Amino acid sequence: EVDDDRGENGGFKMPEIRYTKLFIDGRFVDAVSGKTLESRDPRTGDVIASVAEGNKEDVYLAVRAAREAFDHGKWPRMSGSERGRVMLKYAELVEHHADELAALESLDAGKPLAVTRVVDVGNSLHSLRYFAGAADKIHGETLKMSRQLQGYTLREPVGVAGLIVPWNFPAIMFFSKVSPALAAGCTMVVKPAEQTPLSALFLAHLAKQAGIPDGVINVVTGFGPTAGAAIASHMDVDVVAFTGSTEVGRLIMEASARSNLKTVALELGGKSPLIIFDDADLDKAVELAINGNFFNKGEACITGSRVFVQEGIYDRFEQKLADNMKNWVVGDPFDPRVNQGPQVDKAQYEKVLRYIEHGKTEGATVLTGGKPCGKKGYYIEPTIFTNVKDDMIIAKEEIFGPVMCLMKFKTVEEAIGRANDTRYGLAAGVVTRDIDVANRMARSIRAGVVWVNCYFALDSSCPFGGRKMSGFGKDDSMHALDKFLAVKAVVTPVHCSPW
Ligand code: ADP
Repeated sequence: EVDDDRGENGGFKMPEIRYTKLFIDGRFVDAVSGKTLESRDPRTGDVIASVAEGNKEDVYLAVRAAREAFDHGKWPRMSGSERGRVMLKYAELVEHHADELAALESLDAGKPLAVTRVVDVGNSLHSLRYFAGAADKIHGETLKMSRQLQGYTLREPVGVAGLIVPWNFPAIMFFSKVSPALAAGCTMVVKPAEQTPLSALFLAHLAKQAGIPDGVINVVTGFGPTAGAAIASHMDVDVVAFTGSTEVGRLIMEASARSNLKTVALELGGKSPLIIFDDADLDKAVELAINGNFFNKGEACITGSRVFVQEGIYDRFEQKLADNMKNWVVGDPFDPRVNQGPQVDKAQYEKVLRYIEHGKTEGATVLTGGKPCGKKGYYIEPTIFTNVKDDMIIAKEEIFGPVMCLMKFKTVEEAIGRANDTRYGLAAGVVTRDIDVANRMARSIRAGVVWVNCYFALDSSCPFGGRKMSGFGKDDSMHALDKFLAVKAVVTPVHCSPW
């Protein structure tokens, strides 16, 4: 339930918002049009800040700066270890400003401060440091050829990267693209989501302080169909790395196809299965289902929103789930007791509530939640549906909110079939003590990651990214570098020709 008695901001001092302009070529500038967009506080719907609304002209200026920094600047020409050193300095600065970054993130996206401080800032730092360490470990191969030729490959930075990111983990998403792009030696234009522009601008300021040369990181805040689309269709952008909805992913591929065939990497939606077998540790399974669905108020592409529970444990699982949800607190993200803050904005709030209504009219049963809560802002009760059929809309479409579908199954074969019966293929969770079942599930589920006896277990050293309509290309791990590197073969005869 929402706790409204804690006073303004739960007694927490709000962060000062210092950066609200576009960051182009190392300077904060107004949009060419002079327009601004409003970033709102999801707790109230009130305006937090007016931020420059970048458009096509601004994207053009940002790409020009990135192009210049790539073609003539030192970043792509520095050794990997030098780049790594600057990135470590950047990480130091982010760590030094961890509290401010966490507060900005909580304010802009409605996430519990205790979580942003640990998870969002922590993962951002891991990412930067992982790729700082990767920067001097990018190397090619020597080639053994069938003719009297010798050759090797170079892995060169591909050029200017367009990085379009969503609002659910603004800082983590920023670094999931920026860190590998920096390590590879690319220059870039980042477009944060219009709902959450504040952390990216703050991070651009810290990048400059760390000594990342002007023009290497540019940030254009603005809307998707204008600023985002201008990046995707720009003739001088060499790669677009995107995280967001499947619909927009499709638009980005289309824009690439219609313009310069830039490389595209897409991290899109999901409807991931979390499969709990009879022999699972019940407490652990319930905890994984709760966190796997309601962490970050369900605003995560990897939520395990289809929870399949084997029939032998089902009734006890359902009971315990309902009981444990009584301790789950929805409320002001600045209150340390709170587990779940408000949805990011009005549009998302309304969309999630529409799905909940769909679930009810389709005949699913509400076990917990099922309605909005709080006197103001975008709070929704964590909602669990039972009696869900695989073909109901709530079981098929990505809801991106605190809505869990609970379903019963009998056999391993059935679980595999139903888990894979989706257009998506992002993540999956399996909870069992039987190693054979775990292995079989891990190999049979078509997804980018299978978590066994854990969920949401992301790490900078572990490749992340989906299959099917969840997209392609990886974030995190050395694989994340691939999209920012072009492979070039160099070939020469073994015996020098005399002329
Ligand atoms: P969501 O539905 O979760 O808001 P979106 O896919 O709409 O996710 O947004 C993710 C990012 O893509 C945001 O930065 C958004 O501004 C951007 N975006 C939205 N539409 C387009 C578009 N047509 N072209 C490029 N980027 C877009």
